[in-house]
Amino acid sequence: MNQHEPSLALTNALLIDGTGGPVIDGATVVVSGGRIAAAGTGAPVPPHATVVDLEGKAVLPGLIDAHVHLGGLGFRSTPPFGGRAATDDYAAAREGALRYGVTTQRSLGDFLHDSIAVRDGIENGTLAGARVVTSGPSFQVEGGHPNATVWGSEPAAVREGARMPKTAGEAERMVDELAAAGVDLVKIIISNNAIFGPARPELKMPWHLTEAIADAAHARGLRVAAHTETVEDARTAVERGVDDIEHLVLRAEEPQDEAAAEALFALMADRGTYLVPTMVAHQFEAAADGDARTLRYGNHLVRRAYEAGVRLGVGSDAHSPGLHGWKLRDELVMMVHDQGIPAPAALSMATKTNAELLGIADRLGTVEPGKSADLLIVSGDPTQDITAIGRVHQVIRSGRVVFDGEGA
Ligand SMILES: [Zn+2]
Repeated sequence: MNQHEPSLALTNALLIDGTGGPVIDGATVVVSGGRIAAAGTGAPVPPHATVVDLEGKAVLPGLIDAHVHLGGLGFRSTPPFGGRAATDDYAAAREGALRYGVTTQRSLGDFLHDSIAVRDGIENGTLAGARVVTSGPSFQVEGGHPNATVWGSEPAAVREGARMPKTAGEAERMVDELAAAGVDLVKIIISNNAIFGPARPELKMPWHLTEAIADAAHARGLRVAAHTETVEDARTAVERGVDDIEHLVLRAEEPQDEAAAEALFALMADRGTYLVPTMVAHQFEAAADGDARTLRYGNHLVRRAYEAGVRLGVGSDAHSPGLHGWKLRDELVMMVHDQGIPAPAALSMATKTNAELLGIADRLGTVEPGKSADLLIVSGDPTQDITAIGRVHQVIRSGRVVFDGEGA
């Protein structure tokens, strides 16, 4: 929508602006030139605006998924890489998310040239889909996860999807290379490699390399996210400079050390470290294995992190496994139903907090004048019943309708 197109006025809506403040009934949201021009009860409707009455519907900021994989061929490598961004390999990840109101996704571990091509294609309008922020490849240990577990050490996949430094100097050069290629942040895998078989902790990223990667990234203005699988590893990762813990626990054994978890959350709250739990991934695991221990413990930990004041982001880990967008909806429902987080807080985490985590809060994440008009319109009130987040009426990105639920 440019200046010559008429403004859009969404009237009579329940406004959930993402700030975590009270919902505003009978609100008007005015969209002009792809941006939010006004939002609130007294917002004037400009002359010649297209007016849409949203009685019974809620308007929220477009959701942000803080942890996805854009994929490509279901993670199976088929060289050559690059040039596949517009193909079916990435279509579900790009466009599927929009159907569930996810207008921005953070790719945390993907093929370098493909993920940047997807991001840039969406940004310049040549590709349809949710906006992308990407780490490109992730830092891994050779023989570990995911280079050996997921890609079978296939050379082209490893070259595009993994960086495997042996020394601190090499780590620094690799961060330089990725920064020059245009990644938005850096991702480190800190894994005991128990995801696909017996644990192999000898293949875990050495801590001096984690520190070298984090230092190099920070020197270039890039944030560092780390995949961790235990409370102890998460704590060391935070101490070594990681800004954002992903998953936190995987394949949890019982009993658990409550005091260690409390100490971790106190440290994270103090440092402002983010936590993106991706508990919906454990839901799949629990269903597949009939073993819900990690899911139960994970839900408990997220609740404790919330109470401790840790900055919680929301991510789905789509598509390993599960569909983009759809999984984020399930993660939000779990936060409210299984972790006891109030729905307004959960919705603010999936919008405002995620925008802060992704470094895009200046233009996205809340419904406020001046921000990009990325909006999700649902039937009902998701602050009262979080499952309403799945009753998608319309999704708007940069002021344009990008998905129409046709009456939902
Ligand atoms: Zn992941």
